Amino acid sequence: MKSVLCQNAELRLTERPKLTPSKGHVLLEVVRCGICGSDLHMQHHCDHMHDLAKRVGFNGLAKSTDEFVMGHEFCGKILDYGPKTRRKLKQDTLVCAMPLISMDKIGYQSVGLSPNAAGGYAEQVLVQSSLMFEVPNGLDADSAAMTEPMAVALHAVRRSRIKTSEPAIVIGCGPVGLGVILMLKAAGVKTVIASDFSPNRRQLAVRCGADIVIDPKHESPFSNWKEFGLLGNVSDAINAGLKAFEKIQAVPLPWWHAWRIADKLGAMPKRPVIFECVGVPGILQQLIEGAPLFSRIIGVGVCMQSDTIEPALAINKELEIQFVLGYTPLEFRDTLHMIAEGKVNCLPLITGVVGLEGVTNAFTALRDPEQHAKILIDPKRTGSTIELIKS
Ligand SMILES: [Zn+2]
Repeated sequence: MKSVLCQNAELRLTERPKLTPSKGHVLLEVVRCGICGSDLHMQHHCDHMHDLAKRVGFNGLAKSTDEFVMGHEFCGKILDYGPKTRRKLKQDTLVCAMPLISMDKIGYQSVGLSPNAAGGYAEQVLVQSSLMFEVPNGLDADSAAMTEPMAVALHAVRRSRIKTSEPAIVIGCGPVGLGVILMLKAAGVKTVIASDFSPNRRQLAVRCGADIVIDPKHESPFSNWKEFGLLGNVSDAINAGLKAFEKIQAVPLPWWHAWRIADKLGAMPKRPVIFECVGVPGILQQLIEGAPLFSRIIGVGVCMQSDTIEPALAINKELEIQFVLGYTPLEFRDTLHMIAEGKVNCLPLITGVVGLEGVTNAFTALRDPEQHAKILIDPKRTGSTIELIKS
């Protein structure tokens, strides 16, 4: 079976033995597998990620010297089940699966990120039967393969607890940022501001539903704060606070009662929810510097290096900083159904399709934001050129 192996930051196409499913596993023929931004990062930073995962008690990530097959965003057709495994869906059914698999003695491993669980950059992949979901509604394989990255976006939006009236600011319009924009709009958030240096990515952001797009080279993504009734700096906050306090004292009620009622009614200053979808060192500090007071920052982009921030600046602004990771099985299933029912259209994100021979080319192409957002691997395709997709 053809697979793309990664070892010592190099990718190469090789022939590997066919996979055999164990109990609880299902063997799939890979139909499409997305190349994730994390794969690009993992090529060079997997040692650091391996150590960090170990520190939280997870041993399922590869080291640079390991041989591993990437690919955690895939859909495929059922080929076979492991022994004593319920055949819950017929052979040939198109399915998606969460990239986690339970292995004898070593426990759960990340499919496509662990040396013990080869991913979808191959003709076949093994998945956990309980984490496998049928693709409904005759949904096409390209869209189905977007379930995993879109589930990350849905999880980020749900965890942010954003209200539809709160402005959302999405920093970075790669596949993660674009997915977040789609999910914010699907959730009914009225104002979505998107920021990216690349004109191509800004155009994609508009196609995904962003209401305002900003080129951070010319304008700050936070420059609209007054328009949205946000508090830009500490003196504004003190002025607004004092004015509100004077108003409260004008009410014919002891002011502390009036204050308690206002608190109960949620009369809090309006704040934006900022989604950090870049994941490189320095970006968090930039957001802390630029964010309006009381902003909530959601860290979605996975920064794989160490980074520094100025905590007192965040304290002065009373920022909330929250990090999110992955999704639940319910969110994964909900995402698949949202895509299949047309509630989110992720086709604008797909900019290319490539065969296994072309994965190295695709990695190079993905480093240029003007060219591509998401490239899908079709293992049946021959040759190394990337076919451009315009939807
Ligand atoms: Zn991913």
